[in-house]
Formats: sequence, structure tokens, C-alpha cells
Amino acid sequence: MAPTAVESIKSASNHLRGSLDAELADGQTTFSADSTHLLKFHGIYQQDDRDLRRERTSAGADLEYSCMVRCSVPGGVLRAAQWAAIDAIADVVGDGSLRLTTRQGVQYHFVHKGDLKTLVGHLNSNLVTTYAACGDVVRNVMVSSAPVAGRDTARLDSLGRALSNQFRPQSESYWELWVDGERAVSSGPSPAAADLGSEPIYGDTYLPRKFKIGIAAPGDNSIDVYSQDLGLVPTDGTDGTPGVVVLVGGGLGMSHNDDSTFPRLADPLAWVPDGDVGEVAEAVVTIFRDYGNREDRKHARLKYVLEERGIEWLRAEVEARIGRPLAAPVPVPHWNGASDYHGWHRQDAETLFHGIPVPSGRLKDNGSVRRRSAVAELLRSGLAAEIRITPRQDVLLCGIKREDRAAVEAVLAAHGVPPVNQLSLSVRSSIACPALPTCGQALGEAERVLPDLADTLDSLLSERGMADVRIETRLTGCPNGCARPYVAELGIVARSKTDYDIWVGGNPSGTRLAKVVAQGVPFVKLHHALAPMFDHFEATRIEGESFGDWTDRMGVGRTSASIPVLGKRQKSVGA
Ligand code: SF4
Repeated sequence: MAPTAVESIKSASNHLRGSLDAELADGQTTFSADSTHLLKFHGIYQQDDRDLRRERTSAGADLEYSCMVRCSVPGGVLRAAQWAAIDAIADVVGDGSLRLTTRQGVQYHFVHKGDLKTLVGHLNSNLVTTYAACGDVVRNVMVSSAPVAGRDTARLDSLGRALSNQFRPQSESYWELWVDGERAVSSGPSPAAADLGSEPIYGDTYLPRKFKIGIAAPGDNSIDVYSQDLGLVPTDGTDGTPGVVVLVGGGLGMSHNDDSTFPRLADPLAWVPDGDVGEVAEAVVTIFRDYGNREDRKHARLKYVLEERGIEWLRAEVEARIGRPLAAPVPVPHWNGASDYHGWHRQDAETLFHGIPVPSGRLKDNGSVRRRSAVAELLRSGLAAEIRITPRQDVLLCGIKREDRAAVEAVLAAHGVPPVNQLSLSVRSSIACPALPTCGQALGEAERVLPDLADTLDSLLSERGMADVRIETRLTGCPNGCARPYVAELGIVARSKTDYDIWVGGNPSGTRLAKVVAQGVPFVKLHHALAPMFDHFEATRIEGESFGDWTDRMGVGRTSASIPVLGKRQKSVGA
């Protein structure tokens, strides 16, 4: 097979330039098809409003195009001044909301082409970058960055920033296009990269597709480290030397009706001392660059290289690239169950952090509930020193002095932000991807129907006396799995505009893959599909057993057997 068309576009682009400069100045409302591929490397997706697509197509009118612009925020950590800049322009471009992402980034939606330079220029002048937030490169590096007392948060943050800088593309095209050749201080490549215009790690065609890196704090798998292409877990070596366990080959994206695509958990590769992490990471990334599939983007992920060639081959290849043997992986520390970090937590002797649930990560002012303004006010006033975005798309306001706790609560109350204890467990434990109307890949709804799903779960659980049971739930608008449904206790994945697949069996600590137990269930019938399973759960649950552990104990066959056939396309799965 020949390389995909995207490979030719990348190689002919003169390192991500293509005709973007001319198209940004051409007065048109859209970019050419080739340019849309290059735009992704600059953190921008051109999309059309899916709500209007059918009506406009039938009327023979142009589609309603705008852009999604994504900030790359290593570990989701932003200082107050950076947040102020991100927040300030949300009313000038886009739809007035900020979308926190499952990889700890920040997105603007409905940004018009003519506003892109204003937005990206403004962000860069305030030390926020969109470079490499999307595209065939190492994406935003995730970190379990909750600054829990006693945790070495500085080490985690520093490792996340170092890897992020190491793998940021080196091409000057980003600054030429968006900030007229001026480089912002923090968002630039490392000074060692003096070879401007070339890409020492990526080469002319960059990676075959995206590559995800995540760093989990010991015991805290909130980043779902086993779903990353490259996962790192700080763990002392057998002689007590500080280092990390390296995991490789995780990935969740798949396609419906194509068994050659599948979610996969990462395998342990090695234990590596802290000082060698960058070198080993580069070896793994370049192995993907050299061996990843460039002929079929559906199979262009490190996990398929692992499936085809095996972990021993990968280990030998890494050893050949770094010129020495790797130490065997050591066991990672025990994973605690899921923590959302909602509410108040101790940060150190003098300070606290406060987690604010943000439904689907959509930070906006909505009637009397003005979360976006509350967060901005708390950072602007100095009551909070920094913000950390979690992998669950929530906000952690950090560095709050103990004596300011009441003042913070007063600001939240004044903005109508409900205290955490007023939210149901289902609201707190469920997340969704954006899906319709902005995502071009979406087959069905996610973010907009998450409140309905949480209501369904609330009533199912409380009707059975289980209102205190927390079920990690992830809802996505397509099988790409951006909200990581395949490691959840309950994953709901759109198959069409109306129908969804049900996945169960992941666990609260994210170390086990879920399995599909029903396909094509109409969303409006999810209550009926889940009710018999919840009856069975309530009747046979061992005390303290999580829903995910129960479904795993029952097995796919017995779990799916309790789901009634509810739609003409629905089928239960398993035997
Ligand atoms: Fe879009 Fe699918 Fe990702 Fe949801 S899971 S954001 S629908 S690509």
C-alpha cells in the first residue's frame, strides 16, 4: 500500500508551512483541505457546525465553518496570569466558553478563521502555546498533577515540562505564522535546538499519527497511564535509586465493525533512572516514527507495532538506540481507587487546594451558575495562586491559604457554583467528550446528553438503595474514545445518532480493560437496558465491591445476558 495522502501533505509542507500564510490572508472563510491537516500541528481543527450540516446541505448552502483551537498545557498547570489571558479572550473569539479537555488542555470552539491570528498571538504573548496540541506529534503531556500534600509534585511537574519541551516541534513555522516571527519565552523549543527549520526528532513527515505520553503519580492513576502510548510511573529502583517504570503501547481508539482495531493497555517495558528518561522516551518515539503504519491511519499507533512485533522486539530496539541494556521493570506502587479531588484538600502546611467539578469540562457562565467568572475571580484576586486542569476535565484551584478558605467559598457561592456535597455521585463520576456539534468525528451526542445519563444513573442507583455507589462512567460520541470509556467501569459509546454501545468491567483504578456487553442500544432506552444489570448487581454484590469489579467477576456473558434486547440493531455480546 502507498503512504496516505496526509504523508505527502506533511512532506511537501516545508515543515508545517504549506500555504497557510497565504490562506490566512486570503479573506476566505475556510482553509483548503491540505491546509486543514497542517493546521492541526498548530493546535487548530477546522470544523463545521454539525447541527446545521443537513439543513445547509439540503439548501445547497456552504457549511458553517469555524475552528477549534486547543492550548497545550503540560500537566494542566497554569499560573494565574496565564489563566487570566486564556479567560480574557474567550469573550472576544469563540462562543464565550472554555472547554477543558481529558488531556488537561483548554479549547476554544467556534473561532472564525479571521480571528485565529488574534487568538493565537494573544495566547503566545501570555506564554501559552497551541503548538503541537494536535497533529502527528507528541501531544500534550499528561501528569497526575493534583498537588496532594506529601507528593513530590515538583518532580512530576518538572518531568512533564521537560518531556513537553523535548518533543515540541522545532519548525519556526509556528512563530512565523501566528506571532510574525517573534518567539514567546516559554513556548519555544529548548535552546539546544539551534537547527532551526529542521526536525531532529520528527523528520520531514513527523510521526505516523499522534503519540500520547502520561506521567502518573505513584498510587494515582487519574491520567489512565495504561492508555498512553508511553506511560511513566515514578518508582524507586531495587537499590532505591529514583527512577520510573516505563509502560508502552497503550491506546484506546478503535473503529466500529473493524476487529483489526481495538483498545489496548500498555505493557511494562523497563525501569529507567530519572536521568535517562528523556533518552528512552526519544527512542520509543522514534521507533514509532520509523515503524508506525503510514499507509493506514486507523492502524497508525504504537499499540499496533507492539501487537505485531512484541515487547521483546521493542525492548531490543530501544536498547540498540540508546546503546545499553534496559533494566527490567519493577512493580509499580499499588494504585488507589479513583479520586476526583473535588472539594478541599491539604496542599502543604499552609495551603489548600480546592477541586471544582466542571460538567463535561465546559467552563462557562450559564444563567445563575457562573463557574467561568468564579474561577477567573479567584485567580485574579490572588485567593488562588494557580490552576490545574484534571484528566476528568475539572479545575483545581491551588495555593489557597488556609485562612482564605471561607473567602473562597463566599466567591463560589456568590457565583452560584454549587458545593460539591450538593452534587450527586453520578454527576461527579461521569465525564463526556465534546462530540456534537463541534467534533467532525462524532457519530452521536456526548457532552449535551451527559446530564441525562447522570440522571439515569442516579435514579437507577437510588431506586435500588445504592445512591452511595460511585461508578466511573465515560460517555463518548464515537469509538475514538477521547474520554477513555474502555478503561471505565461503565463506558457508553455512540454507534449512531441515536444508538450506543455499553462497555463494562474496567475498574476504578484504570488498570483493566472494559468489554462491550451490548451494541446499538437507543440512548432513550439506556435506563431499561441498565436496570436488570443493576438489579443483578444489587442482589449479588459482595460488600464494598465496585460495579466494575462485579461486572468483571460476573463475566461478559452473564452480564450481557441481563440486558434486554431493546432496539432492532441491538445485540448482546459474549457467551
Ligand atoms: Fe470526537 Fe469521538 Fe473524540 Fe468524542 S470520542 S471528541 S466524538 S473524536
